[in-house]
Amino acid sequence: MQPRGGRRGAGGEGGGHRLCCCCCFLLESMRLSALALTSSRLLSLGCRTVSPPGARDGARDGAGSGAPTALSFDKPKVELHIHLDGAIRPKTILEVAKRRKIKLPTKNDNQFLKLITCDGPTTLTEMLTKFGYFMPIVAGDRDAIRQIAYELVEDKANEKIVYFEARYSPHLLANCDVYPIPWKQSEGDLSPDEVVRLVNEGFEKGQRNFGIKVRSILSCLRHMEAWSPEVVELCKKYRKDGVVGLDLAGDESINYEPSRGHVQTYQEAVRCGIHRTVHAGEVGPPEVVREAVEILKAERIGHGYSIIKDAKLYQEILQKDIHLEACLYSSYITGACKADFSKHPVVRFMNDGANFSLSTDDPLIFNSTIHTEYNMAAKDMNFTEMQFMRMNLNAARSSFLCENKKKELLNQLRKAYGMPEEPKLDTNLNNYPCL
Ligand SMILES: [Zn+2]
Repeated sequence: MQPRGGRRGAGGEGGGHRLCCCCCFLLESMRLSALALTSSRLLSLGCRTVSPPGARDGARDGAGSGAPTALSFDKPKVELHIHLDGAIRPKTILEVAKRRKIKLPTKNDNQFLKLITCDGPTTLTEMLTKFGYFMPIVAGDRDAIRQIAYELVEDKANEKIVYFEARYSPHLLANCDVYPIPWKQSEGDLSPDEVVRLVNEGFEKGQRNFGIKVRSILSCLRHMEAWSPEVVELCKKYRKDGVVGLDLAGDESINYEPSRGHVQTYQEAVRCGIHRTVHAGEVGPPEVVREAVEILKAERIGHGYSIIKDAKLYQEILQKDIHLEACLYSSYITGACKADFSKHPVVRFMNDGANFSLSTDDPLIFNSTIHTEYNMAAKDMNFTEMQFMRMNLNAARSSFLCENKKKELLNQLRKAYGMPEEPKLDTNLNNYPCL
């Protein structure tokens, strides 16, 4: 396999990559990406040149760096916040481009790999360009979609992730029955519905071959309200095939009020017993989190860092035991949080006994692995092994698995951690039957 997280070259892009020269074919797709980005990477960023936390001692990554690196937590783990299309193997993108005869906008492969990743904090504009470069290569291609799903399972198994939930927008990988057709693709015959089936096939095969559990979450996009009703319908249609939840991603910084279409979509999810998470409070104000919880009835929050600015809301989140899907390295790269990790909101979360866990978000773009997260937490925030174990148990009990599978997962972790089995669940997510 191609280990993700290997540093593919020294240095970043020096802040020099803009929409330019040989990227003409991508201009339109980049414009669209600004509207329809799968993750909430649409953030107000500043160019900073500080060294990445955790990288100061050369231990940012635990896999693929070519040099053995001590892992801060080498036990079974659960990951709840990762974007399928933000976690593709770079090698696969290059292979698919070659097979489909798609010309890269760079002179060679290495330049392209540098182009689609960030080695340090970057600007909003540069971040947006990343999806626009590689999504046109994999979107609309059945084999590529099956492959990226399958390979993600292998990569996560190699990171000792025993259960993960991957999210994606089916519409952004389709090339028909979607308007506008994303990434300036020509109209084809791959619908959002079939995209979900293809991803399910890849995950199914991966689960069989690598022995870990995978479920998927379908993402609505804040700027693509028209797509949302179909997203919840797909959640309902494929709930017996591994689709366990609904997500809302997109630009909370400039448009954080949930529009009526999204509200109706989330109401339908509540009505049908579809689990719900929402990207909120990453760079947006605490109000976005309040709306996510009170209006969209989110059971988990993607990121949620800004809640510490609103003491009342923060206490409510703690009291309701709402799970916070934190992504440390992502928050550093996007500028959501300051580079001084001793003051990161996650430190507050830990000290206050909040229900949270660590995830990679978009490891392709961040050139990271789950070990990046744990190494940073250990080295920059002094997290202990016991705290890591507690965090993973929180992730397991806050997962969107049905109750029986959740108990199995909790017991699997407890056994690996040397804890007595204790299937008692202290969760507000226990009303969902196994399907
Ligand atoms: Zn995300």
